[in-house]
Amino acid sequence: MNEKRLIPVETLASPAHMSIDFADDAQDLIAGYRRFRAHRYREARDLFYRLRDGQQPATMILACADSRADPAMIFDAAPGELFTVRNVAALAPPYDPEGGVHGVSAALEFAVTALQVKQIVVMGHGGCGGIAASLAAAADRPVGKFIAPWVEIAAPARDAVLADESIARKDWQEAVEHGAVGQSLTNLMGFPFVREAVERGVLQLNGAWFSIGKGELHWRDPETGGFSVVAAEDPELDRDNRM
Ligand SMILES: [Zn+2]
Repeated sequence: MNEKRLIPVETLASPAHMSIDFADDAQDLIAGYRRFRAHRYREARDLFYRLRDGQQPATMILACADSRADPAMIFDAAPGELFTVRNVAALAPPYDPEGGVHGVSAALEFAVTALQVKQIVVMGHGGCGGIAASLAAAADRPVGKFIAPWVEIAAPARDAVLADESIARKDWQEAVEHGAVGQSLTNLMGFPFVREAVERGVLQLNGAWFSIGKGELHWRDPETGGFSVVAAEDPELDRDNRM
């Protein structure tokens, strides 16, 4: 790749008008830690103590590193419940046993062969900067030295969307976000230990997508690859979100 052509990563940043007062130094984080000790830790103290010698999560989540789509929060999970891997755009790389250092593959190997998780959920999300970078690359505007090659994992899904004339340009981003989840699930099946566990019926692979603006989870239909909203038990919120 010609580095001179690379688009600055800042193009993926959020608009400047979004000034929200979040933790931006050590003192802010330590204040948050003290709230954790006073509340959530106090509530989960016994569980933390029981977990001191090991973990037995039954679910692995592959999610985006995006600060707005936190699996532990979305699934209301307890400590020890979710084995979570997060990266740019929630991508599972293809199986590649030939050298290299593979962080996601190492986590996957541990989750499936040592922890023997019963399901893996790949969760994409709306407004994903990594997917935007994948679309930018298709327009000959690769973003970032490391981001551009990484998001190429989603290229088959992206190219399928771009080749589908029934999908309007304004819907490309979400369509690729959905397609990339499917691509990651396909890549997961390329790992021999994943395929073997799925074929033995001891491991399920699922896909999901989170709408940040609505706080809504959409679940992937494995037959069609389509996504549909998961009904929540709050009719008032559900109605508001439809408006
Ligand atoms: Zn993302």
